[in-house]
Amino acid sequence: MGGASHVKILMATSEAVPFAKTGGLADVCGALPIELARQGHEIAVMLPAYRQTRYCGLPIEPLGIEFIVPIGSKTVPGRLLRSRLPESNVPVYLVQQDDYYDRPELYRKDGEDYPDNCERFVFFCRAVLETVRLLEMDLDVIHAHDWQTGLVPAYLNIEYRSLPRYHRIVTLLTIHNIGYQGNFWHWDMLLTGLDWKYFNWRQMEFYGHLNLLKTGIVFADAITTVSPRYAEEIQTPEFGRGLEGVLQHRRDVLTGILNGIDHRVWNPATDKFLPTTYTAETVLQGKAICKAALQRELGLPERPETPLVASIGRLDDQKGFDLIAQVISEWVGQHEVQWVILGKGEPKYHERFAEMARRWPDRLAVRLEFSDPLAHRIEAGADIFLMPSRYEPCGLNQMYSLRYGTVPVVRETGGLADTIVDTTPATLADGTANGFSFREDSAAALADALWRALDAYHRPDVWSQLIATGMAQDWSWARSARQYEAVYQQTLARAQTRSS
Ligand code: ADP
Repeated sequence: MGGASHVKILMATSEAVPFAKTGGLADVCGALPIELARQGHEIAVMLPAYRQTRYCGLPIEPLGIEFIVPIGSKTVPGRLLRSRLPESNVPVYLVQQDDYYDRPELYRKDGEDYPDNCERFVFFCRAVLETVRLLEMDLDVIHAHDWQTGLVPAYLNIEYRSLPRYHRIVTLLTIHNIGYQGNFWHWDMLLTGLDWKYFNWRQMEFYGHLNLLKTGIVFADAITTVSPRYAEEIQTPEFGRGLEGVLQHRRDVLTGILNGIDHRVWNPATDKFLPTTYTAETVLQGKAICKAALQRELGLPERPETPLVASIGRLDDQKGFDLIAQVISEWVGQHEVQWVILGKGEPKYHERFAEMARRWPDRLAVRLEFSDPLAHRIEAGADIFLMPSRYEPCGLNQMYSLRYGTVPVVRETGGLADTIVDTTPATLADGTANGFSFREDSAAALADALWRALDAYHRPDVWSQLIATGMAQDWSWARSARQYEAVYQQTLARAQTRSS
């Protein structure tokens, strides 16, 4: 490094917009590299070429580079394709292996994980390390994400470190959600090709299973997660999902960095999905138009005065949709509120919300699908956004909501706690209030916070203040990228001290 500020980074990930997306990870890996490049760093992104990648709408060209990697006792061929992140010069290397990746979905089918997920990502991680050599990359940092790339730090340290090209590369692992660990049966250890001596409780083993996230945590030079509060939480038994011990052990190199939001995509002043655009100056008129249009689109009565309460996300226990369903059922006959749910996920939630929408069609609109355009129109048209998550590493929708002048009601956990300041007389007075939050994991606590939000909704001066505060805040990637840069620099400096 020699004190230079310019860092050479390879980002290894299983998702990046617009190439492949199932959740927030894709948003991070599509946006952070562009911002790091803008700040003067040299960065490339690498991910598998899935079936959905072909339809991402960007040109993808073959590089004419083929390779083979060992998977257990066999060898498996792959090939490299190249594209770019949109409106940038950031190269994207796609690993083509159609037996593994040319499938309808990324990780699962009909609610079941693919049985060979371990093998699919052993292959990808080895391909990442091989690509460094094949493309003669000169790197400072390999930045891995989640369990899918947890083996990258292990392979680098165990198999590649002695080769000159890899000698001084440091690895960073970002944990986006500790609920997904890549836990596989112990015989999958054979697929990794690594010695059984690493299969012990301090390294790759987790209660008799092979755990790829733990592997990454143990072997990476530094670890980040996606909010400061979550970095603290995952070191406790309540949130650590069994990995709290290993994380406590590595707490000196564990940092929380909030994700940013993509201002080009999530900006009410330019959003092409909206019936009208608006800014902080025109928000009241703009939102009124968006709200009326949304009510029409969803088949709800067009009532400007009725508060419209929305939630968008994976229909999963994590997101607290059971609490939302409970509050809707209790309130629907009593209070003048309209509800909209956009989400896809567990069948039990699909059934429950579909049934509720049939019962109360003029109160509740439910869309059980993944729709980016509708997500934008909901963020613009709703008055209140609910996120009663049991845990929330960072969360993006509450930041989108702030930017769109939609007031968030959230559980005080993870990134929600780091971004939303509860409305109290004190926070209203000091101008920090931007939403509502509650602690307890219960429908009663959510109902109480929502009740306070509705009270504020009916006090226009308070409501305008909350909207103005939220819209003025900076959740940009520029902010996050500067913090990642600092972590890269510190990690490189530590490695240099270690080797000298
Ligand atoms: P997570 O990564 O845990 O799913 P985040 O809030 O960090 O949650 O990110 C979720 C992303 O996926 C957001 O961009 C959100 O708007 C989007 N999203 C989730 N479900 C849907 C859906 N059904 N339709 C459209 N967008 C969705």
